[in-house]
Amino acid sequence: MDIEYESVIGLEVHVQLKTKSKIFSQASTNFGANPNTQACAVDLGLPGVLPVLNKEAVRMAITFGLAVGARIENNSIFARKNYFYPDLPKGYQISQYEIPIVSGGSLDINANGELKKIRITRAHLEEDAGKSIHDLYENESAIDLNRAGTPLIEIVSEPDMRSSKEAVEYLKKIHNLVRYLDICDGNMQEGSFRCDANVSLRAKGSNELGIRTEIKNLNSFKFVEQAINFEISRQTQVLSKGNNVVQETRLYDPNKNQTRSMRSKEEANDYRYFPDPDLLPVEITKETITKIMENMPELPDKRKTRFMDEYGLEEYDVDILISEKSLSNYFEKVVKKVTCDVKFVANWMITELLALSNKHSILPANIPVSPSDFSCLINAISDKRISSKQAKTILEKMWKSGKSPDEIIDEEGFSQISDEGQINKLVDNVLKNHYKSVEEYKNGKDKLFGFFVGEIIKESKGKANPQIVTQILKEKLKDDN
Ligand code: ADP
Ligand code: MG
Repeated sequence: MDIEYESVIGLEVHVQLKTKSKIFSQASTNFGANPNTQACAVDLGLPGVLPVLNKEAVRMAITFGLAVGARIENNSIFARKNYFYPDLPKGYQISQYEIPIVSGGSLDINANGELKKIRITRAHLEEDAGKSIHDLYENESAIDLNRAGTPLIEIVSEPDMRSSKEAVEYLKKIHNLVRYLDICDGNMQEGSFRCDANVSLRAKGSNELGIRTEIKNLNSFKFVEQAINFEISRQTQVLSKGNNVVQETRLYDPNKNQTRSMRSKEEANDYRYFPDPDLLPVEITKETITKIMENMPELPDKRKTRFMDEYGLEEYDVDILISEKSLSNYFEKVVKKVTCDVKFVANWMITELLALSNKHSILPANIPVSPSDFSCLINAISDKRISSKQAKTILEKMWKSGKSPDEIIDEEGFSQISDEGQINKLVDNVLKNHYKSVEEYKNGKDKLFGFFVGEIIKESKGKANPQIVTQILKEKLKDDN
């Protein structure tokens, strides 16, 4: 009989902190500078230099810890993790081992419509390494040390996830949270947010953990999902053949959509961790923690509940609006300035504004239409100055030109005709010009009603308010004998 397996997943997430300078030096952390222009003597580990801890990095790590309900260690310790690699000039990475700054805590994810708690084991501060570039020169590798010394927190989860979907939910949750906290830019393409996925299988119902593999350096949600799924089916095959999974580190190749072995446990590094003699324990006082707590921004889960309660929006819509901090901020700015139903604003943002940002591949944070201009547009629709159809065209023009809706309405003569007297005349004209069709309509050819509406709108050059046209037309066709 076939055994039914259950997959078990734990993630190690690397979050690059948004400090101006590096974790132990004053070099800039800006992305995209010319190679090797932003690594100073400390980042290179030249003889005689001393690391000085960046307070901002510590503050950000504490902020994260408090946001997930973790314990903040008041005397955490930096350790040297020794290994040789060309992008690590010191020969060791400064990290935390025995006493990390953050321990415990948890996040709730949505697992098939139900809340599921994912426990966080720890989050520690460390420095990033440089970058090896293998595709710049033929037969040679290049090293860019600009990233060396960039502050990271590594967030380690308990093996609490049971599918690739849950893993992605958890990862998205952290991704959203660190941006709400303003401690990471979340740019996965630039490597500011990446993760290692640990995957194992076990017989369903068992309490023991199976042998795991670790897939390194995944930098998109899609790759995380695909890599885990591949690994689950690979391990299922290994086990069903009666073999054992080999504990090893694996790499995911997105082009082939498969993972391959990088190094096995026998070759695993012995990092010979020891406390860094150049750095004191990180002393954190109660006052520091209180101050950080007081300055904590509204967290995404809280904002979600508030949006549902305060605005009466559906969970589905709120999930979209809070998926980006900038989008939810935008929404609230617009809501303050409109006279109409909030639901109408949410619909327009989700269907029209987000459609445009997708179409132009613009992140919500960079939407070129200001909340104030967008609210004017919404007001123009709800006041019936313009039709929804016109509003869509106007919005596209606002997006491209940066002009206000009023400017565009004036310039293009977009405003809608809602004046009944004017529409009366238009209707009369059209009915007169099509008197034969009017006869046919009265003899039962109902379909012609739509034709008349179309002709009237055409006559008005698209400006007549269709609702008023319909209303007046109905009256006329009834009244006339
Ligand atoms: P290491 O530092 O060698 O990677 P850790 O014990 O710190 O090892 O574990 C790292 C991650 O692996 C954690 O997220 C943990 O939840 C996960 N993990 C550990 N054992 C398993 C397992 N058997 N299956 C799946 N994930 C696991
Ligand atoms: Mg690991």
